[in-house]
Amino acid sequence: MNTLHPIHLVGAGPGDPELLTLKALRVIREATVVLVDDLVGDGVLDLAFGGLPARPRLVHVGKRGGCVSTPQEFIEKLMVREALAGEKVVRLKGGDPLVFGRAGEEIAALRAAGLDVVVVNGITAGLGAAASLGIGWTDRRVDAQGVLLVTGHTREESDGQDWEAIARTAASGVTLVIYMGIAQIRGIVDRLSSVLPPDLPAAVVQHASTARERTACTTLGALVETVASQGFGSPAILVIGRVVETAYMAGHARTTPTNEVGALA
Ligand code: SAH
Repeated sequence: MNTLHPIHLVGAGPGDPELLTLKALRVIREATVVLVDDLVGDGVLDLAFGGLPARPRLVHVGKRGGCVSTPQEFIEKLMVREALAGEKVVRLKGGDPLVFGRAGEEIAALRAAGLDVVVVNGITAGLGAAASLGIGWTDRRVDAQGVLLVTGHTREESDGQDWEAIARTAASGVTLVIYMGIAQIRGIVDRLSSVLPPDLPAAVVQHASTARERTACTTLGALVETVASQGFGSPAILVIGRVVETAYMAGHARTTPTNEVGALA
């Protein structure tokens, strides 16, 4: 009989600790070892561990403090080692583990080591950004009938994205939600603009759902200039499509900014 604990891949949501699921909270609080990604805010950890007699062992596996990020293979080996030693291991990731979170690779590695894996969903940053803007990903009033989540950052050895094909999809009434797009924004927008009109609405949301949240609504043609002149940086989501016309900027009504949650815990 396998008496080892399953490894939990847990989504921490986009930043606001109140967006953690109840299941995520329970699993984090029961853990003995938590591997934390750099996009997980301190507010989430404060909420999760508030009132506990002892914190589990925390291992930061992101790029915090300007260090290079921890190699994926090391993270996987560490999870396996801790789980085989009988620890209750949680891998805590920003947003949802299944969206640009390498969950597929990790599940495969953990299963290959004979371990069970449980995924606990979180709210992905693109949805956090949509809430900040007060827009739907889909909206029949503007014929937005679908949504495409794409990364602006691809592995060096890959050919990268076919932005022209993505733009044609967007032109057919699909909202584009681009993760990790800031570093390459000029090239991305140039290529999308070979298919899409410059007056197509576009938005950028940085630090969605946190006290540092910033948003701007503009057009595809002015997106690069807006991001540069207003100093937007990572982590940010780009939203391109007619849904941006409907933006209401509802995010500012959040009741619990990240930096106040410690007091609640
Ligand atoms: N698994 C995560 C995505 C990880 S990729 C999720 O589901 O959200 C990292 C990218 O997510 C960042 O480069 C940025 O594009 C986006 N991101 C994460 N947190 C964000 C936030 N609070 N606001 C805006 N974008 C965010």
